[in-house]
Amino acid sequence: MFMPVINPNEHIYSLGARYHILSANQSHRQTSHDLMDNNRGIPSTKFGTGLHNLSRKFDIEIDYLIDNHTYFPIYKLFTDSSNYEEAKTALIAGDIQSLMRYLGLVSGEIFETNTIGYCRSCVEESEVLLLQNDHQIPGINICYKHGDLLQKKTVGFKVREYFNLYELLTSADSRPCLEREIHEIDQQIAAVAHNLINLSKSDSVLCYELMREKVLSKLMALKYVSSTGKVKQRKLHTDFVKHYSKEYLIHAKSMFNNHEDTWLSKFLIGKSKRIHPIRGIMLILLFSGIYRNFVIISVFQRIHLITILDRV
Ligand SMILES: [Zn+2]
Repeated sequence: MFMPVINPNEHIYSLGARYHILSANQSHRQTSHDLMDNNRGIPSTKFGTGLHNLSRKFDIEIDYLIDNHTYFPIYKLFTDSSNYEEAKTALIAGDIQSLMRYLGLVSGEIFETNTIGYCRSCVEESEVLLLQNDHQIPGINICYKHGDLLQKKTVGFKVREYFNLYELLTSADSRPCLEREIHEIDQQIAAVAHNLINLSKSDSVLCYELMREKVLSKLMALKYVSSTGKVKQRKLHTDFVKHYSKEYLIHAKSMFNNHEDTWLSKFLIGKSKRIHPIRGIMLILLFSGIYRNFVIISVFQRIHLITILDRV
């Protein structure tokens, strides 16, 4: 059976969609049968499903597939270690419900179901039509490479079809431009996400516990923690909104109306064992104070991120 070559940073769903075109299969069922030995399944646009079969068909280790062709590794820094390991086991077993539970993902909350994202400039300059892995991370709106707004398409799982990637060439932009300030913050977040996803898969030291410890010690240094060890929640929340603006936080589905029982307070007091990657990146950006330098960190040099975290 002819299998397409997997491209670096190609999302796992993209493989199925490309295979469908290249195989000239008349039916989507046949494609699913070829790829997953299951004529009803379609690899998900999120973490992928049927990983065992895909690993076998493409002759790639399952861990490599997850690390390089899904955005799962980004959760390593934002989900406590035991939940992260459980989530990975669930992912390999194809148990998506458990996977989402361990990662704390709730439908509708920065989790765009059944959508694919793409950058028009990437599509135009690429020789192979494919979907980039980074562009599928929920909450990421900008291409880190071109700075373009990502276009989004809904994929029809109900009809169990692979999206025809050629549509990316002909479809018109469907999203209104973001306001400049919002676009700029989204662009920084996309760049950090791109770096983190690469670092997370190659670095065994990075974990949620380290990230949280660094954020808390930075808060202490910035006097957000009282002498009795209590985080000054009201001041922190006010400053957070002041920094990112209410408009941005609403756009990023991360606004809070008070300082109690918010995603930020839950993270700080340890009530929640995870934080959404986009929110985690906002925290890192705010408390590192190094904004633009962060984006040029070499992704394979661990020492750099450790330095960053030390400054967080
Ligand atoms: Zn691009």
